[in-house]
Amino acid sequence: MFPSGRPRGLVRPILNKGWVSEIFVSLQGEGPYTGVRQVFVRLSGCSFGCGYCDTKRARKRARTADFPGKRVLNPVLVKDVIAAVKSFGKIHSVSVTGGEPLEQPEFTSELMKGLKKAGYTNYLETNGALPGVLKKLLKYADIISADIKLSSATGRKPALKAHREFFKLSGKKTFAKIVVTGRTSGRELEAALRMLRGIVPGITACIQPDPALGINGVLRKFGTVLEKGILKDLRVTPQVHKIAGLR
Ligand code: SF4
Repeated sequence: MFPSGRPRGLVRPILNKGWVSEIFVSLQGEGPYTGVRQVFVRLSGCSFGCGYCDTKRARKRARTADFPGKRVLNPVLVKDVIAAVKSFGKIHSVSVTGGEPLEQPEFTSELMKGLKKAGYTNYLETNGALPGVLKKLLKYADIISADIKLSSATGRKPALKAHREFFKLSGKKTFAKIVVTGRTSGRELEAALRMLRGIVPGITACIQPDPALGINGVLRKFGTVLEKGILKDLRVTPQVHKIAGLR
């Protein structure tokens, strides 16, 4: 687990340039904003290494980035990313996702600042484990999707201290996403929900099953946890883009 600041040695800080994996338009497929039209700016590089990661291509810093209609060399300029976003017409918001956007703090901050200036709503998608970085760019984020990483799902030590700090800072613009698998226990899930309730009462949280477990698996395995009503707005949400065959 890395500390709450910048992960060591992963990404060189270059203010206006960053590593991008791809930029494309699609529908958001996870959580409470499912179905809204977004441009996805998928940044490249993540040192977390979750067992269930479905964006493996974006975990390593890529040599090239897939822009609309062309492939370009990394690192790319903020202004070029914003121009690519503008080419897609009207959208609900821009999903700045990864990989892990907060592992490129300067670039992500400059990008979200530029997008806001251009009139866009920023939807930041993060592993929720880098509160020290979040502080620097929180003002540019309109909606934050932050994970609670359970060790049963990631195969790593839990990052609970970092998550606690993160949710304290990010507050009400954030919803939590908790990926659960067949290995997740009711006790582990319940502890995460109670932690969230203690930090941000009223937060929206989404339990997202890995495909092997599915919604039925969640109901079967965690029915007694759901019955407790620990959070007022707790949802069980599948990855709709996968079901629909979207990107
Ligand atoms: S934090 Fe996200 S991008 Fe990084 S390994 Fe985990 S699932 Fe993949």
